Amino acid sequence: MKGLVIKNTGSWYTVRMDDGQLLDCKIKGNFRLKGIRTTNPVAVGDRVEVNGEGWIVEIEDRRNYIIRKSINLSKQSHILAANVDQAFLVVTISRPETSTTFIDRFLASAEAYRVPVVLVFNKTDLLDADELRYQQMMVTLYETIGYECRQISASTGEGVDDLRQMLEGKVTLLSGNSGVGKSTLINRLAPHANLRTSEISDAHNTGMHTTTFSEMIPIEPSGYLIDTPGIKGFGTFDMEPEEITGYFKEIFRFSQDCRFSNCTHTHEPGCAVLKALENHYIAASRYQSYLSMLNDKEEGKYREGF
Ligand code: GDP
Ligand code: ZN
Repeated sequence: MKGLVIKNTGSWYTVRMDDGQLLDCKIKGNFRLKGIRTTNPVAVGDRVEVNGEGWIVEIEDRRNYIIRKSINLSKQSHILAANVDQAFLVVTISRPETSTTFIDRFLASAEAYRVPVVLVFNKTDLLDADELRYQQMMVTLYETIGYECRQISASTGEGVDDLRQMLEGKVTLLSGNSGVGKSTLINRLAPHANLRTSEISDAHNTGMHTTTFSEMIPIEPSGYLIDTPGIKGFGTFDMEPEEITGYFKEIFRFSQDCRFSNCTHTHEPGCAVLKALENHYIAASRYQSYLSMLNDKEEGKYREGF
């Protein structure tokens, strides 16, 4: 019997079987991902085979998966979710203000995982005329780069129906800083879901590491929302400067005309990116975010997520 893992709490997995029934399952056998050690071999979003006794005996190949590296010395990773179709990044331009660096780092990491992102500007009802103009500028900036944007209010419900339609038939990861209105939005999108996802620390992980479990929230008529408390990006991994360029869509397009193929767009002669920046074809905020990721790389700074 096959099914979809919709919840993971410690060693137990809730699987929605293809016939609709919910089963609490455990894992049989030794599942290992090539190259990484994980604290959980199976994650929400995994399609699995369950045997007659309720054991998960096989995992289907993943289209993608999102991991978070552990910050302790075990070097183990935690898989937050598998087979994600898209991400909604909830942002607010005030109360609290989401920084453009945060947005751009999230977008860059999503590019790396090839997960399309929709920027959801929430709390639109709170904005005065100046703030609305600023938000509109941000929307124009990101739409020009190639990201879909929506301006909503989770409180009044404005724009929420449109978002609900975008969820149909898909697995959507919901992210955003704390306080931007994710819970309020989830309650609108899935009024019958039993919120809020709990954060439980894993008894097997003593010390600094707290494992956060994920849950998929079913959306009517179809689709799932994944609410992963604490996820700020898609994890870091070793990136070369050329790769970071590739994750900033518009910087990448201009970089095709740089004189040197390994141009870092910081000081090199004949750099088409610096020229585009000067001519305002690339936003200063985007370039700053690019530089901040480049600096992390150069300092070899280790970060958990973003
Ligand atoms: P989360 O931390 O991202 O889950 O944010 P919450 O959903 O808990 O919301 C944080 C605060 O912002 C709460 O007091 C909400 O009532 C408020 N809030 C959320 N969405 C909106 C909105 O669209 N407009 C206004 N005015 N307040 C909102
Ligand atoms: Zn360059």
